[in-house]
Amino acid sequence: SKYQHDFEARFRIPHITDVLPDAVSYPSPFCLKMRTPVSPDFAKGYPSDEEWHGYINNNDRVLLKVIRYSSPTSAGAECIDPDCTWVEQWVHRAGPREKIYFKPEDVKAAIVTCGGLCPGLNDVIRQIVITLEIYGVKKIVGIPFGYRGFSDSSLSEMPLSRKVVQNIHLSGGSLLGVSRGGPTVSDIVDRKRNQYALCSGGNGTHAGANAIHEECGRRRLKVAVVGVPKTIDNDILLMDKTFGFDTAVEEAQRAINSAYIEAHSAYHGIGIVKLMGRSSGFIAMQAALASGQIDICLIPEVPFNLHGPHGVLSHLKYLLERKGSAVVCVAEGAGQDLLQKTNATDASGNIVLGDIGVHIQQETKKFFKGIGFPVDVKYIDPTYMIRACRANASDGILCTVLGQNAVHGAFAGYSGITVGICNTHYAYFPIPEVISQPKVVDPNSRMWHRCLTSTGQPDFI
Ligand code: ATP
Ligand code: MG
Repeated sequence: SKYQHDFEARFRIPHITDVLPDAVSYPSPFCLKMRTPVSPDFAKGYPSDEEWHGYINNNDRVLLKVIRYSSPTSAGAECIDPDCTWVEQWVHRAGPREKIYFKPEDVKAAIVTCGGLCPGLNDVIRQIVITLEIYGVKKIVGIPFGYRGFSDSSLSEMPLSRKVVQNIHLSGGSLLGVSRGGPTVSDIVDRKRNQYALCSGGNGTHAGANAIHEECGRRRLKVAVVGVPKTIDNDILLMDKTFGFDTAVEEAQRAINSAYIEAHSAYHGIGIVKLMGRSSGFIAMQAALASGQIDICLIPEVPFNLHGPHGVLSHLKYLLERKGSAVVCVAEGAGQDLLQKTNATDASGNIVLGDIGVHIQQETKKFFKGIGFPVDVKYIDPTYMIRACRANASDGILCTVLGQNAVHGAFAGYSGITVGICNTHYAYFPIPEVISQPKVVDPNSRMWHRCLTSTGQPDFI
């Protein structure tokens, strides 16, 4: 159908040969040792040993949607082709290609990390360096402190090798440092001729990476720009999850447990935990589901009132009367309509949010004081403790595979792409498609309703 056709066109990933049709390709030095199939039955229908090289073909695809809607009006179906209830959407499979578009010995690779911290950044840097070395790249550098490091002459590039990065994943943070703001795209491109860049960052970094990719295309430079999405909020479209999210949920549970113990041990105790989530409540929702200790979960996607008979505060009173204590978790972007609007922005142009956690804490104290009901309110904001954590095992694996595939994508000649996991497979996505808007919790989704069932909270409207 036309819809299918448009989808294919949108999800085509840009290749070096789009701007340099005469770009030469080389055989990949990346060695893959595939095991010979063990059972003859398994081998039936498979290529012979000689053909069994394990490289990914450029036409290999990963299925994006695997849902059969029983009717075009089913929940979630409105976004698809009204004529078809079987959705077939595919993206490009990530992995090593047999032909590469850069001669490894000529390559200068630059790695940059921007935005805020996220567990797993060091794991990604480490794996990119190791994979580059396996390809035979000799010049690998880290750009210090985000995009700023491209222009600030007081900051010098950091030479990277397996030896330098061997143990960096054992601690959180970023070996290279991060920053917001920085030079213009044109300045960056002036500085990084004949390199290819691997960026790890959030929506801002990806917007920047895509702009750099487009500028390199305009100047017909043979540069590949590849992103690895770094967003602790898990707010990137189409991806199962992004690195750091799993670790964040795990750490958030610790904060929630402390708030629960404090609240439970106090007379009429109320614990309030503020979690990350600027526009998406995934961390708050998952942490509430995982901990089982949350009575009220507030996220940006679902509006709520604090005051009034159906507000959060009167539900808190009900909880205190019924069971003596209560625990609230609130995502940082929730309830922004309840706060005074400021037009302040940070160095990268992101709007500075009002502090909803502190606001709820203050309003709670005021409300109970006003009705002469004694309460003991404890407020916990674990944000920076969570962001600085080292990645857990599952994020460590995710980062390793993303880092490897970022390098494979660049060598395959793709640029302006980002790598992610989709229906448990690793895939390449065109950057504009995944950052066109943040992925958010659907208030009509099964998962949000599972969360409401577990907290037992009503609607606060
Ligand atoms: P986080 O999720 O931690 O916010 P982020 O990557 O979104 O990560 P930002 O500080 O918003 O972090 O952006 C990172 C870098 O990208 C900054 O140096 C910023 O100047 C640059 N940047 C943001 N948007 C653009 C854009 N549209 N074009 C070029 N550069 C951009
Ligand atoms: Mg951002």
